[in-house]
Amino acid sequence: MTPTALKYSPDATVEDSYPTNLPGVLPREQVIKLAETELAAWLGKQKNSREMTQRAKKSSPFGVLGNHQKDWNNMPQNIYCERAYGNKFWDIDGNEYLDFCLGDTPDMYGHGGVNPAIKAAAAAMLENGVYTMAADEDGVVCCELMAKKFGLSHWMANLSASDSNRAVLAIARQVTGRNIIAVPNFTYHGNIDETQVFMPATGVLSRFHDMNIYQYPEVGDRTRVFTFNDLDSLEDVLRDRQVACVMMEPIMSNFGWAWPRDNFNEKAYQLCQKYGTKLAYDETHTLSAGPAGACGELGLQGKYDFWACGKAIASGVPTGVFGMDEETAHELHRQTEAAGLFGEAAFGRLGTLLSGNTVSAKALRVTLEQVLTGEVYARVGVHVDAIVAGMSASIEKYAAPFLVEKMGNRIAYTFIPEKCYDPVSASVGIGFGGMFEFSHAYAWNRGIMIMPYFNMLIVTPQHEPADTQRWLLVWDDIVRILMGK
Ligand code: PMP
Repeated sequence: MTPTALKYSPDATVEDSYPTNLPGVLPREQVIKLAETELAAWLGKQKNSREMTQRAKKSSPFGVLGNHQKDWNNMPQNIYCERAYGNKFWDIDGNEYLDFCLGDTPDMYGHGGVNPAIKAAAAAMLENGVYTMAADEDGVVCCELMAKKFGLSHWMANLSASDSNRAVLAIARQVTGRNIIAVPNFTYHGNIDETQVFMPATGVLSRFHDMNIYQYPEVGDRTRVFTFNDLDSLEDVLRDRQVACVMMEPIMSNFGWAWPRDNFNEKAYQLCQKYGTKLAYDETHTLSAGPAGACGELGLQGKYDFWACGKAIASGVPTGVFGMDEETAHELHRQTEAAGLFGEAAFGRLGTLLSGNTVSAKALRVTLEQVLTGEVYARVGVHVDAIVAGMSASIEKYAAPFLVEKMGNRIAYTFIPEKCYDPVSASVGIGFGGMFEFSHAYAWNRGIMIMPYFNMLIVTPQHEPADTQRWLLVWDDIVRILMGK
């Protein structure tokens, strides 16, 4: 634990890092009671979803098709959706929500046909089908657009961020001839064995759960873990020149937000270059920072070897993209050709994944052309600023030790008053085990859909000033109640 985390959560463990040292905030037991009451009231409005959960569990282990759809922080039932359009979502009990969750990012530019990319993709599917053996011009245009936007010359696509990250790691191994990777502590890059490793105490490597699902029995076999913003710890893992690739986010986003400081990203790239290691950014979340992602906002173009992103870059249509530089692309091509028929893509490495398709290509193209623009981000940014200002005003009004931050179209609130620079500290600010649960249940119960496992709101291009007011009233209540006022 770092000093920030220790200050607010002196007895913190990985399982329980609730911030208890917060002046003026209700005692934890009281917050838990309030959370339980709110959740019970909301679940009382979820009769159809409750019945659907029971029915669904007879034919699916968790009662959902997609694994993440069960991730409602251990709730006793699932919630099922009837319809989603623009920035609204309706559950099967007829409750309407202002949707700030948007599937936890994929639909962050809006649900349904009001989003031009979804509209164009649906039309493409009706006219052209989904899969042919031949590529199409949309795919070529997408690669050209991404080359311009994200500063790497060569691009490909998969159907998810996990698959794109997996491909990046495979290519990095292929072109460097090394097979170990490195990730920062408390990171998430999808369902990849090697990236699901963390460091609960200095020098100790672990997995989040002791389950028998991993390919590599020894947790440190293929992975080294360093500390974000700590160049010495990064150099330690790179020094023996065994690491093929460092994979990270330019701003850590999955266990609370941890901001880079003192040009950490630039210096990390210099270290990677010094030791012949590739640097890959995963912008699946941080694409929200601006029309060219956080790398664009932070001016990192030209200072990385790979860039990957998930579905949001195609407005939620299943897609993962990954880019590489020209030299890597040529080497990938050369080695794959040299390996011959049975050694090539089909048997490992990239696989002959059936990923290219008309729908993803059209959605990606239109998102790149019409949605990921300075104009759209500027328009959304006005609402984001109004929300952040309103939330901060409530914090000030009740002298609450909380903080609101923005990352482009994404807003996070934390239950500690400070910006964080490492994800371990940031996770304390989420307030799991009381404040997190209360704030969520309170919002859900009043028709505001916040991401179920993080204190996060995403603002879509369809957002209206009235939506801002609706949320700010709810937020003001949350802060007031937590401060016992
Ligand atoms: N990378 C990051 C940073 C993510 O946050 C996520 C999922 N939220 C993924 C990768 C995995 O995305 P997918 O589920 O599309 O594979």
